[in-house]
Amino acid sequence: MLVVDFHTHSIQSMHAINTLEELLNCAWKKNIQAMAITDHSPGIDNTLHYLQNADKFPQDFRRIKGPDYHYFHVLLTRYQSPLEIPVQLFKGIECSILSHSERSTDLPLKLAPLLDIVIGSVHTLPHLFQFQNREQVTEKMIAAMVEPIDIIGHPCQEKSCPNLEPVVKKAAESGIAMELNYCSLHLKKANIKDTTEMLKLAVKYDCSISLGSDAHMSNELGRDDESKVLLNELNFPPELIVNVSLESARTFVASRKKIRQDNLTN
Ligand SMILES: [Zn+2]
Ligand SMILES: [Zn+2]
Repeated sequence: MLVVDFHTHSIQSMHAINTLEELLNCAWKKNIQAMAITDHSPGIDNTLHYLQNADKFPQDFRRIKGPDYHYFHVLLTRYQSPLEIPVQLFKGIECSILSHSERSTDLPLKLAPLLDIVIGSVHTLPHLFQFQNREQVTEKMIAAMVEPIDIIGHPCQEKSCPNLEPVVKKAAESGIAMELNYCSLHLKKANIKDTTEMLKLAVKYDCSISLGSDAHMSNELGRDDESKVLLNELNFPPELIVNVSLESARTFVASRKKIRQDNLTN
């Protein structure tokens, strides 16, 4: 079980099951010390865009909805987790890396300085990322690293895996962590070969790794079964894992948030 889970979704992501407070309560029961709530950015639904373009998209896209900008604003400016639940909450977002846009992600920039954690991921949905080949994903992931993101989410999914060496190298240079994602491995969206290669490259280039369950329901919260097997097999250095402890997670969040705030004020 993870000590700190940096990637979770609440019912706000529409295709997830539990409320934020159900997840917090569940984390407490599982002895998870901290969790980041990282619901999908408005771009995965982008209600206005959706309403204007619904007829242009295939049926499976029409079912996809997510929280709007105001949800994040309320979460970031007004929400406090219940005092009786001793689980630290990091308020985050999972934004999408875009393939055909002037911007490289759909992160709402006004929210960026307030967020504790920003994950940037490729989601191969027609309005977000139209996959061409590994070179294209490599280019777009590297381009996204100039945005204020902290973690590249589920980088080893087979449908959207980049050439890992240049991506890991650039992440290391940028202080961005590569994610070892439980659900990707558990649901077999990512293969062991690519994931192992990513971890070996992380050691080679001194690149940080972030552990996330990518839970879409409480029973997945904090899970790391398959992730732990790989880390143990490789004897992976714990000092490269940004959320190996509550203390290291807090240090990572504070340093990345400061970079994000400094970048946006300059
Ligand atoms: Zn994702
Ligand atoms: Zn996710």
